[in-house]
Amino acid sequence: MQAEFVTDNPEETQGLAKRLAAALPAGACVALVGELGAGKTCFVRGLVEGLGGDASLVSSPTFVISCEHPCAQATQLAHIDAYRLGSEEEILSIGWLELVADPATWLAVEWADRIAGQLPASRVMVTLEHAGQSQRRISIKWPQGIEPAPQWINDALESQVCAVCGEPLNQAAGPFCSDRCKMADLGRWFSGGYVLPRPLKDADWEEA
Ligand code: ADP
Ligand code: MG
Repeated sequence: MQAEFVTDNPEETQGLAKRLAAALPAGACVALVGELGAGKTCFVRGLVEGLGGDASLVSSPTFVISCEHPCAQATQLAHIDAYRLGSEEEILSIGWLELVADPATWLAVEWADRIAGQLPASRVMVTLEHAGQSQRRISIKWPQGIEPAPQWINDALESQVCAVCGEPLNQAAGPFCSDRCKMADLGRWFSGGYVLPRPLKDADWEEA
């Protein structure tokens, strides 16, 4: 299951991550996927803050691959950047298996898709996408059957219903339950059902 959020600025992304940190089971792995500038490092700052560490020390460990941040109560967050790894197996050289096995170490992995085969099964998948200059669409996929998802994630899941009829979403049809509703919404667009951010001016119609 997957909950989706849209943040309007870096502070909101960090805040969302902080909230997630409070819900993570001990030693959890957060796998972050998203292109350059999507906000992965920003998200890790929130995780470190939520776990009682110093968020201002967080930057992408692109060249060192791993950086450990002390957090509250003798725990730590190992921040990993898999961007420069040549192969999945290279991650083993930083003591990856020991980090995964240690219940006092939370893991946050940027470019997690590059070491997909090495990630623990019980990971929380976080996907970040640009949704505008300073908007980011962030989806959080909570592992099933490991720990119950926190209520606010369940609430976000429930709020994801078809924009047309209110039925549960069908991922293949985007924010709609079916292709039929997708087409219905298209109709609303042409009939002026959507509000434009400003009224059209005569100049909009002049030949460019
Ligand atoms: P990544 O680690 O994915 O490459 P960073 O977290 O280092 O990305 O950088 C994200 C950049 O995008 C920062 O410069 C940040 O200020 C900017 N930004 C703008 N809007 C947002 C947002 N809603 N959430 C996160 N970052 C944002
Ligand atoms: Mg980064």
